[in-house]
Amino acid sequence: MPAPILPPEFAAALAPATLLVRGGSERSAYEETSEALFLTSGFVYRSAAEAEAAFKADGSRYVYSRYRNPTVTMFEERLRLIEGAEACRATASGMAAVFAALFCKLRAGQRLVASRALFGSCHYIVADLLPRYGVETVLVDGRDLSAWEEALAPGAAVVFCESPSNPAMEIVDIAAVARLAHRAGAVLVVDNVFATPLLQKPLALGADVVVYSATKHIDGQGRALGGAILASEKFIREDLGQFYRHTGPSLSPFNAWLLLKGLETLELRLERQCRTAAAIARHLAAHPKVAHVLYPGSPSHPQYELAQRQMSAGGTLIAFEIAGGKAGAFRCLDALRLVDISNNLGDSKSLITHPATTTHSRLKPEQRAVLGITDGLVRLSAGLEAETDLLADLDRALGAV
Ligand SMILES: *Cc1c(COP(=O)(O)O)cnc(C)c1O
Repeated sequence: MPAPILPPEFAAALAPATLLVRGGSERSAYEETSEALFLTSGFVYRSAAEAEAAFKADGSRYVYSRYRNPTVTMFEERLRLIEGAEACRATASGMAAVFAALFCKLRAGQRLVASRALFGSCHYIVADLLPRYGVETVLVDGRDLSAWEEALAPGAAVVFCESPSNPAMEIVDIAAVARLAHRAGAVLVVDNVFATPLLQKPLALGADVVVYSATKHIDGQGRALGGAILASEKFIREDLGQFYRHTGPSLSPFNAWLLLKGLETLELRLERQCRTAAAIARHLAAHPKVAHVLYPGSPSHPQYELAQRQMSAGGTLIAFEIAGGKAGAFRCLDALRLVDISNNLGDSKSLITHPATTTHSRLKPEQRAVLGITDGLVRLSAGLEAETDLLADLDRALGAV
């Protein structure tokens, strides 16, 4: 088995920009420059005794790609170094990561407390699926620390939140919720998709587990699904280990290879996309057809100070309310010529979506109202296009409202 090119102790001291390009790389006998794609499901043994030993060993020898694969390992190791986590497991999608991280830890009769502002599929797992298996789930206003405290008073096994939230950009005070979770005996799982591994460090703020949809900014080019779970060595081995091995949420080596290449340009893309998002937020705030703008990097965001404290930039996503409700929002979306209507995000192409009729259409109207998902709200993911072209496209489209 080749050793990592950078010894882990050396790699741990390198800056993110370096790790994004070189972290976790291993080289095969052919001495290639770019990470090799090991598109293989199985591995062979030179003798029956070697196979026997491999199955008895600690799992470090490659046995089957549902368990581990060298290209997937390189992606896991690169992301682990960037996140500053002890261990990482990659998954086939962000939802596989969320489901595995929650399900592997919970037993019938235990409690899960979560912020109510969750990505639609996360809400389904928490509110519909887990209760079927005897898990009691409680949803709280993630912005309200006294609501967390009250919900956690009877104790809990897992606490789950997303910050900033999709799509209304609510911010959860991760350090404060981590303290409350630990006091209640729970592990805190944070969905860090909107903030990305570079803009927010939940583990340093006290969280125990971080989950990603790598489909979003990590691929960042709209090509592949993927996800990841980052946590302590103990969580990954003892809580997730057997669940992961036997239920098969594994990432395909091909997608792992794409995601490795995605990480190489993550910092450059984020820099540009955050700058563009901030410019769009400023521009829209002054637009007569826009009722309000929600962007964590804008001083007008109701939790701006908290966002400043726990994020190093405002992110690439903006939510804004268009005058005229659903009809106004639809007219704007339909009049855009550059920005695509799509529910994906974090892509190099700017994308816009109307959450009330797409990602959050499964919720009841009252639930949407509580989450601030009004009929006029749209979510924009800033891409890599020129800022001037995007502003002109938005102005033209808002002119049609
Ligand atoms: C997209 C997304 C997910 C799910 O990820 P997939 O890769 O689509 O499965 C989970 N959480 C958030 C916040 C997301 O944006």
